[in-house]
Amino acid sequence: MSSESSSKGPVIIITGTPGTGKTTHAQLLVEESPIPLKHINVGEFVKEKGLYESYDDEWQSYTVDEDRLLDELEPIVSAGGVILDWHTCELFPERWADLVVVLRCDHSKLWDRLEKRGYPLKKIQENNEAEIMEVVLDEARSSYSQEIVVELKSEGTEDLESNVARIVQWINAWRADRETSNVES
Ligand code: ADP
Repeated sequence: MSSESSSKGPVIIITGTPGTGKTTHAQLLVEESPIPLKHINVGEFVKEKGLYESYDDEWQSYTVDEDRLLDELEPIVSAGGVILDWHTCELFPERWADLVVVLRCDHSKLWDRLEKRGYPLKKIQENNEAEIMEVVLDEARSSYSQEIVVELKSEGTEDLESNVARIVQWINAWRADRETSNVES
């Protein structure tokens, strides 16, 4: 399956429970990618553009205005060459994605990362439980075709490096595939 943007650059969704390493992966991937990629940290994007309906102080989280978010993202995604970094992915239309990476992390490591981030206890517990229950992985698998969903462990820096190397390989293959079909057509 290919997205509308396939002639420009791939659209890669990096998803996973908060703290699994999405932003860290996206930043390294931008540096290492053979094709220029624009990193959209969707949480930050929502805050910067005010694409939320309310803010919950107790949970320290925003209720996103999903329609407005999709409207804002559509032209960016259509231009291609994008990494969408967010803790959920089922909202994005299936046609957008060329690759969906789901990062996974051992729950005790994840707990430490979220504690360091200063999350309230119940938010740490909620996210930890979601990671154990594979909530984001299930969501990705039920929203996108199986062939484009990849689950990757993100526990140490060696994982980070090998995951990014693997995505770079995927980008090279993706590009070679496009070049071949252009020659044939
Ligand atoms: P997310 O974007 O998924 O919320 P971050 O990329 O902000 O997660 O990472 C959360 C914390 O965990 C950061 O301090 C980051 O350095 C660390 N981290 C994430 N992935 C790894 C990894 N594979 N190896 C070591 N540290 C990691």
